[in-house]
Amino acid sequence: MREYSGKSVFGGIAIGKISVYKKNEQQVKRVHIEDCEKEKERYNRAVAQAIDELKELYDKAVKEVGETNAAIFEIHQMMLEDDDYKESVHNIIDNQEVNAEFAVAATGDNFALMFSSMEDEYMKGRAADVKDISERLVKILSGGSESSISGSEPVIIIADDLAPSETVQLDKNMVLSFVSVGGSSNSHTAILARTMGIPAMIGTPIPLDESVDGKQGIVDGYNGVIYVDPDEDIIEKMMELQKQDIEKKKLLQTLKGKENVTLDGKHIKLYANIGNIKDLLTVVENDASGIGLFRSEFIYLERDDYPTEEEQFKIYKTVVETMAGRQVIIRTLDIGADKQCDYFKMDKEENPAMGCRAIRICLTRPEIFKTQLRALFRASAYGNLAIMYPMIISTEEVKQIKEIEETVKKELTEQGINFGNPQIGIMIETPAAVMMSYELARMVDFFSIGTNDLTQYTLAIDRQNTKLDDFYDPHHPAVLRMIEMVVENAHKAGIWAGICGELGGDTELTGQFLKMGVDELSVSPGSVLTIRKKIRETDTSAL
Ligand code: PEP
Ligand code: MG
Repeated sequence: MREYSGKSVFGGIAIGKISVYKKNEQQVKRVHIEDCEKEKERYNRAVAQAIDELKELYDKAVKEVGETNAAIFEIHQMMLEDDDYKESVHNIIDNQEVNAEFAVAATGDNFALMFSSMEDEYMKGRAADVKDISERLVKILSGGSESSISGSEPVIIIADDLAPSETVQLDKNMVLSFVSVGGSSNSHTAILARTMGIPAMIGTPIPLDESVDGKQGIVDGYNGVIYVDPDEDIIEKMMELQKQDIEKKKLLQTLKGKENVTLDGKHIKLYANIGNIKDLLTVVENDASGIGLFRSEFIYLERDDYPTEEEQFKIYKTVVETMAGRQVIIRTLDIGADKQCDYFKMDKEENPAMGCRAIRICLTRPEIFKTQLRALFRASAYGNLAIMYPMIISTEEVKQIKEIEETVKKELTEQGINFGNPQIGIMIETPAAVMMSYELARMVDFFSIGTNDLTQYTLAIDRQNTKLDDFYDPHHPAVLRMIEMVVENAHKAGIWAGICGELGGDTELTGQFLKMGVDELSVSPGSVLTIRKKIRETDTSAL
């Protein structure tokens, strides 16, 4: 047995095979194609090959495990022949002019989401099957290249580091845990691991070679340790911890449907953060009262080219419709710093965290901004959508944004396109915005404090730098005082203020935030019930 220690970014125990992540292998790229008929033919051929493979697997399984257990491969064949599935893939190829791999992956995700949200347990179980057949097809279409998580069992991924664009494209059902050599607690990769609610570690000096690849592993996300080829006594101990974990999660389930109210009667909105439409399921499962931060830039990061207005509109519409009247706060794109998109063709910068990112890109490239705003305003007609702008530093920026909003609304009206009346908010994540919060509060409907960047810019510590992780202290009094000041200024103007940075999910501070009068906390979906428990146990009058 060997063990390696790192820094935990999400608790929990994962037991399974280790897979060394090989860059760029398991991504399904969205590629624009000219000849849709040819692409549909490719898809049809892949289906025929997949059916042949499944027939072989069925025959083998009948011999090895009997007819009843082999039946799953027959079900998969039937699913592959299903007209709805085929129609969906063909439609995506035709309407979006995209490659078959992308159309299959999108169909697989949509169908799996649909199945898993059904009441019937049997139908819920079909979600994994539809994912399975989709993966088989993608593998065939992309030349059958073996990716590090292409097998049929979920694995512990270890990597040097994972860029947000890579993490977001991993098949979440196949990942038990993330362990990275580099990374930092506040990087977007760590945030994504928290969103997925799986044990994760960063800064772990583990070799990325055959000495660990394919080996049995255990990640103890509570203590930040990964065991390779664990001994019997460690396996036993970890299995026991895992059992306790499951029990704790079960207990938390009893809080579903309960109010987010303190012992002394203070109510707070408890929302969830998402980066992807696929995270919606966990939001619903964990009973969040809304979405406090949809990091829309992940829509851009998943693609090879700018997402169109129509593509974005469909995504935003699905999210607000699924949330059925509950508030959905969509942040406009926050590209830049660690979230780089090649097709934006940004100039290389010495200091990207302080460079052209987020609202600065939007204000200097209004066409990209307007496309997103059109999609957002259109989707606002279908539910309770709010728009939020990142990285604000001045009232002047908000004025400019409002002018662009007005132009977009005027154009939509002239074109006879319907739109709603979304709440407009800004992120408070720069010290400048904190200091201007009195004035800014009079221009918007709400504030959401981005403590990840606010800590970075207040303490002058790069949130991406592994070596500075110990200096990065979001509990620093300077940060906490800023939060208090922002809430006060929001309330003076009669608007609400929430926290959507990672600090919102820190149970050590829940009491203080409630005492300060924070109106909303938006946390990773897996933390919603933990925070609800904390809120319900707090008596702010005793603090
Ligand atoms: C933040 O900065 O706190 C925030 C929520 O935004 P992001 O982490 O995406 O920069
Ligand atoms: Mg931020």
